[in-house]
Amino acid sequence: MNKRNNHILKSLMLLLVLLISLNAVANSTEKGWYTDYDKALAEAKKNKVPLLINFSGSDWCKPCIMLSETIFFTDVFRNYASDSLVLLNLDFPVNKKNQPEKDEMKRRDALAEKYNESGVFPSVILIDANEKVLGQTGYKKISPLAYISHLKSLLIGFKYEIADATPDKSELRETYTMMGARFEIVAIDRDTELAQKAINNAHSEIVRIEALISSWNENSQTYSINTNAGIKATEVDEELFRLIERALKVSKLSEGAFDISFASIDKLWKFDRTMTELPDSVYVAKSVSKINYKNVILNKENLTVYLKDKGMKIGFGAIGKGYAANCAKKIMTDLGIKDGIVNAGGDIIAWGNKVNGKPWKVGISNPTKQSKFVSFLQVNDMAVVTSGDYERYSIINGERYSHIIDPKTGYPSKGLVSVTIVCPDAELADALATTVFVMGEEKGLALINRMALIDCILINDKGDITTSDNLDLNFVDPNTTEQ
Ligand code: ADP
Ligand code: MG
Repeated sequence: MNKRNNHILKSLMLLLVLLISLNAVANSTEKGWYTDYDKALAEAKKNKVPLLINFSGSDWCKPCIMLSETIFFTDVFRNYASDSLVLLNLDFPVNKKNQPEKDEMKRRDALAEKYNESGVFPSVILIDANEKVLGQTGYKKISPLAYISHLKSLLIGFKYEIADATPDKSELRETYTMMGARFEIVAIDRDTELAQKAINNAHSEIVRIEALISSWNENSQTYSINTNAGIKATEVDEELFRLIERALKVSKLSEGAFDISFASIDKLWKFDRTMTELPDSVYVAKSVSKINYKNVILNKENLTVYLKDKGMKIGFGAIGKGYAANCAKKIMTDLGIKDGIVNAGGDIIAWGNKVNGKPWKVGISNPTKQSKFVSFLQVNDMAVVTSGDYERYSIINGERYSHIIDPKTGYPSKGLVSVTIVCPDAELADALATTVFVMGEEKGLALINRMALIDCILINDKGDITTSDNLDLNFVDPNTTEQ
């Protein structure tokens, strides 16, 4: 072999070793397990939960491998542990290749001496943040649920568990159908009467907003604006005026991808799966000519709205639920509710914490299997809003048509199947989710990356997931199943 080939071979070997060792690192850390005792202990202290130490031998101890595969790596166990434990894996491989550096091996030996004197493998020790041993298990062929209930029985009396189990706050939850969607309002407080009042007031607030912005309710101001298109300006409440003003800003920002005057075309499409053929392209062209946010004329002095073209129409389908969620939250926080959620048909705004003091988790639905989540986000004072093509759509000639219309063509937008926007404001998140859906993956992502404090998760029709630059997917745990 000549010198050059030898060199290439060496480089390849090096790369292989690097890849194998990277893989080993990934395996030991990716499943939510710590490998460093001090870090794990600090985390247990911070979260006020016990620390579970798994003494294992990954390359020689069959029961250790069984314990990991049949219990620790299951969704049920991960879900339980994500809220209730900090996990530490102390591996004692016999194969030199798999062993960590000497100092680390020494540290593990010392911990084994301290907690696993008998030298049994696998051995699982539960300790509290003061390093007091709370219990111990080994491996038996049992279900993950049985294992969890065994752990729970060992942890009875653990003071943080007790504190969690009897919170001094309680959670109230109500669901309603409003704006054609399912709303859920959650309030947490010591005072249940106050929490109930907050939910009731939030509910009334959403009813009020629906009456203001509905485009089919003949008594609404929006209905007046639409019926007077091309005829005269309509005087409206300042609230509606400002909402339209903000919607037009998003239109400008998106160069018309978002446009509340999309509604001129809404009669041509039905997204309840009853549509069997595409609308006549002549009508589509005719209606699309009426869509133009620049023809929504606002007069600040008189607070009037005028649609320039006859046949023009506005609708708040893409921003109304987000606006309602913001307003409902404000009603509740003004009453002093420090922890809560308003879920407006999947447009979620969450603030404070869950009743057990842990952060809210919001799931991002898998567009093809909605009972499953592709990921979870931990949120506080944040809105998470998803526009998807999976709720309202029609299948025509085997193709899927979603309810989000590209104002430039009059046809439903294609390419993306789910857009999630994460930002503190639910109305903006709602409007931007629709906007990015229309703009498509590349332009939409570029827009979000330009905006501070706004992030997105995009899923295209091939199932690829893309996130904005600042979204740290490390804090997303796709294995949890709880909201
Ligand atoms: P969802 O209603 O599922 O939360 P969106 O917030 O994306 O989804 O809103 C979709 C609704 O927005 C459509 O049903 C329609 O009423 C309206 N809409 C459709 N296309 C546009 C558009 N290009 N600009 C503004 N609104 C739109
Ligand atoms: Mg929207």
